[in-house]
Amino acid sequence: MQALFFDNRLSLQDIPVPEPSRGEVLIKLLYSAICNTDLEIIKGYMGFKGVLGHEFVGRVITESHPLYGKTVVGEINCSCQQCYLCLSGRRTHCEHRSVIGIAGRQGAFADFISLPAENLHIVPDAIPLPLAVFTEPLAAAVEIFEQLHMKPSGSVFIFGAGKLGLLVSMVARLHGFDYTTFDAVTEKTAFAFKLGINSRTIRELSQHEKAEVCIDCTGSPAGISLAMSHLWPKGTLVLKTTVADPAKPDLNSIVINEFTVIGSRCGLFSPALNLLERRLVDPSTMISGKFMFMDIINAFEAAKNPLNHKIIIDHNV
Ligand SMILES: [Zn+2]
Ligand SMILES: [Zn+2]
Repeated sequence: MQALFFDNRLSLQDIPVPEPSRGEVLIKLLYSAICNTDLEIIKGYMGFKGVLGHEFVGRVITESHPLYGKTVVGEINCSCQQCYLCLSGRRTHCEHRSVIGIAGRQGAFADFISLPAENLHIVPDAIPLPLAVFTEPLAAAVEIFEQLHMKPSGSVFIFGAGKLGLLVSMVARLHGFDYTTFDAVTEKTAFAFKLGINSRTIRELSQHEKAEVCIDCTGSPAGISLAMSHLWPKGTLVLKTTVADPAKPDLNSIVINEFTVIGSRCGLFSPALNLLERRLVDPSTMISGKFMFMDIINAFEAAKNPLNHKIIIDHNV
């Protein structure tokens, strides 16, 4: 099968179709999407070498499994179910975990992928296939509000109007929070505004404007200090950025201002699928381009353009 391999450079390679191990099923990929994490990995994040890709929708082709023929999306953390973290109910933090296309496991930029059946969720018919690739990043946006319980009257600043920032803004809007989304790039705040998101450029943000919750979705090491400087004392800082070159925040400032800091990674798929199925979040306007799988190297070039949002890969042959 064909797969996009990263080994200090990206190349399409012919590799064997994966053999499902115990508890796994084989999936034929239908659509996938390029995430900022993929762009960070090719800059060195996680030191990953192998087949990239973790946002996907596919069809189960293992005939002997009850999921055979079903259209599925997959949670990206694969756990051992035996270590002390798994046994304590913290399976997404399993000490032996592999993560699809990010750590120790083949990714979705390929013709086929083998995954534990327990990671899979059936995609409701009402969700158009290309939109199902948003399940994983939308789950990561919903995860913030799984971790953080705040009053509907609370104020939220979201920094970064990129792919994740827009999804987080859509979820914050659903909750009825007094939220504003900021970005340094005028084109990005203008695009967010077109989606009905309350957005402003960072230049318009005065030094004394603060919120009770600041969420960093900038994908840039400088985003954390920016978010911290607009947080009320006793406020909550939510960190979503993972980069090859992480920031070193001023911990004194966290102590002195009594900030609560929440690191936030992957989320649950069921609420994300509900939001997509009921059209409460409609990310269709966030698709900036569609490329055939054989053209995925060019798709990566398009994804590197910061003004592009989601680049979708079509695996249908
Ligand atoms: Zn992602
Ligand atoms: Zn484990």
